[in-house]
Amino acid sequence: MEILVAKHAGFCFGVKKAIEIAEQTALKNKGKAYVYGQLVHNERVIKDLQKKGINFVENIDEIPDNEVTVLRAHGEPGTTYQRLKQKSILQGSNLYDATCPLVTLVHNVAIKLKNNGYEVIIFGKKNHPESIGTSYCIKGKDTFIAENPEDAVFIVEHIKKNDFKKAAIISQTTMSVSGYKQLIENVNKLSNSKFEQMHLSLNDVSKPFVFVDTICNPTKQRQYDTEEIAQKADIMIVIGGKNSSNSKELAAKSKELNVETYFIQSASQIRKEWFEGKQKIGVTAGASTPDVTISEVVDKIKFFAK
Ligand code: SF4
Repeated sequence: MEILVAKHAGFCFGVKKAIEIAEQTALKNKGKAYVYGQLVHNERVIKDLQKKGINFVENIDEIPDNEVTVLRAHGEPGTTYQRLKQKSILQGSNLYDATCPLVTLVHNVAIKLKNNGYEVIIFGKKNHPESIGTSYCIKGKDTFIAENPEDAVFIVEHIKKNDFKKAAIISQTTMSVSGYKQLIENVNKLSNSKFEQMHLSLNDVSKPFVFVDTICNPTKQRQYDTEEIAQKADIMIVIGGKNSSNSKELAAKSKELNVETYFIQSASQIRKEWFEGKQKIGVTAGASTPDVTISEVVDKIKFFAK
C-alpha cells in the first residue's frame, strides 16, 4: 500500500498567524483573552487554545468591557469594530486583529470596485464569516451572494432586473477554483454582456462586466494538489474541520473525480475496511488542519496496512 500525502496540506500562513496572535495575546495577558467567533474552523485547534485560557464567544455581548480580544482570520464587518469600540475594546490598545491579509485584500478589491460604480457580486457561502465581512464593505445584507455555479441564472436576473450598467464578480478566498470558472462560464452563456477577467490590481475599471480572481493561493495549491493525488489514488482521505469551507471544497473536488472519499476530522474516525483491496491512499487536509492531525491519520493508515 502506498500513501500519497499532498505537498500543500494543513495550516496556511493566515491560519498560522491567527493562532500565533491568539497564543501570544493570551500569554501576555496571563492566560486571559477573548476570541470573537471560531478563530479558525478546526475543533482541535479551538480546544487547545481554550486550554491556554482563551474564551471563545459567538456573541459580542458576552465579551466584558475593556477585555483583551482577538478577531478571527476570516475578517469582520465594520459593525464588529463599532460594537467593540462601545465596549472600549480598540485597535492599538486591547484589540488584536488576526484577519488574514488576503481577506483584507478582498475587502479592498470590493470597496474599490464599488467606488468605481460596479455592482459587486460575491461567489461565496452566505453564512460564512468571510462573505458576511466582505458583504459589509459593499451593501451589507443586500449584497448578492452566489453559492454555486448554478446560481449564474440568478446573477443574470439580478443584473437585468436592476439594469446595472457595471457589475463585477469576486470570490470568497476559499471557494472552488473550478466552481468559480464554471460560474463565470454559465453567466457568460446566459447573458448578453460578457464578463471579462480583471487583474487583482484593478488597473482598468473601464470594462463594464468583469470578474476578479480573489481565491487565495494557499486555497488554490491545496485544490491543485488534491486533484493531482486523487487522479492517482484508489481512495482519498480529506482531513478538516466540519465547518471548514476550504476543507469541504477539497472533499468535493475529490468526489467530483469519482474517487471514494472520506471527509474526517481526526484519526479516530478511520475504519480499517476502507483500505481493503486498495493500493494507493491519498491524504490531503484543509488550511485549518494541524500537522499533528495529518501525522496521526497517516500513522493510523500505516497501522491498518500492516
Ligand atoms: S485560506 Fe487563504 S485567506 Fe484564508 S486564512 Fe488561509 S491564506 Fe488567508
